Amino acid sequence: MPIAGIYGPDDFANRPQGQHQGQATASPRAAPARTGPTLPTPSLAWTPEVARATAPLYERVKHVIPPIEWPLMAPTILAINELKRARGAVILAHNYQAPEIFHCVADIGGDSLQLAVEATKVKAGIIVQCGVHFMAETSKLLNPDKTVLIPDSRAGCSLAASITGADVRLLREKFPGVPVVAYVNTSAEVKAEVDICCTSSNAVQVVESLGTRSVIFLPDRYLATYVASKTDVKIIAWKGACEVHERFKGEELRAFREADPSVQIIAHPECPPDVLAEADFTGSTAHMINWVRERRPRRLVMITECSMADNVRAELPDVEMLRPCNLCPHMKRITLANILESLLTLREEVTIDPTLADRARRSVERMINLKN
Ligand code: SF4
Repeated sequence: MPIAGIYGPDDFANRPQGQHQGQATASPRAAPARTGPTLPTPSLAWTPEVARATAPLYERVKHVIPPIEWPLMAPTILAINELKRARGAVILAHNYQAPEIFHCVADIGGDSLQLAVEATKVKAGIIVQCGVHFMAETSKLLNPDKTVLIPDSRAGCSLAASITGADVRLLREKFPGVPVVAYVNTSAEVKAEVDICCTSSNAVQVVESLGTRSVIFLPDRYLATYVASKTDVKIIAWKGACEVHERFKGEELRAFREADPSVQIIAHPECPPDVLAEADFTGSTAHMINWVRERRPRRLVMITECSMADNVRAELPDVEMLRPCNLCPHMKRITLANILESLLTLREEVTIDPTLADRARRSVERMINLKN
């Protein structure tokens, strides 16, 4: 059914002004420097030894990184991998990170929730989160005793920046008794105000698990529209959007199909409805990757952040990718250089007020504990 209503900051005259958590264009919050020994910068020269030591890693990315670029990356990759062992650190990389990060320095790759959950299973005391700020917060929520570092705390997200905890309280006043579901792409401050979190993989299941006729679903209006199309629960939405996925257009997809009617098109549910209407499959990043692994299409258009197509192609070079390339500028703040810097200096550490963290963690754990 169509969504029952969509609200945004302009709908609340009494809304307090202030900077959003997870601001997309500025530092979400000043992360305090962790005190600890800063290590000297290692040599980053391209030498025969570096070439030999990194040759197996280049094999993983040779289909997506030209040989001429490898000598510029390999010394930093080697230094990061040596340093993370020395520091007892683990590197988590989101599917939208560049291949030299995702395939060459990350210990765990995946979507934001996979990363945070997997991190609870490792023994490392330090987590370096190669993703955006709300992901690092989620890792910290689920790993409160570990040191969580983000190489650039300005890595925000337009969805997380679209809503504050105060906005959630205003929505609750307007719709008393209606439970609130928050997409994981929200700040810890927002997670602390809601009943339960969801991902793009389990959003419909989470909404239906509440057993109510109406649910407030935030902050992505397009994911809310997609969920509403799959359930009889009335969905009240927020006006947020992912600035990467909302740029795709249905006409772009039609042009791909006219050029090659055999092409397969798969899209993320953060895209607008006219885009999803053209797709052969709609799913989260994890579901999209599994779909490609199982189907092995000859030619594929992947409608999501551009680097994910590179990461899948590195693994499955027989799949030809046609890419309308929309990059996430916030994900791209994370680079090999600042990952190395983060490991050398143990900055920038992610911290969350413990009382707020307890409430936010409950929303995430309630989702994780849902029976499949
Ligand atoms: S791709 Fe969209 S949802 Fe993901 S971090 Fe970037 S702005 Fe946020």
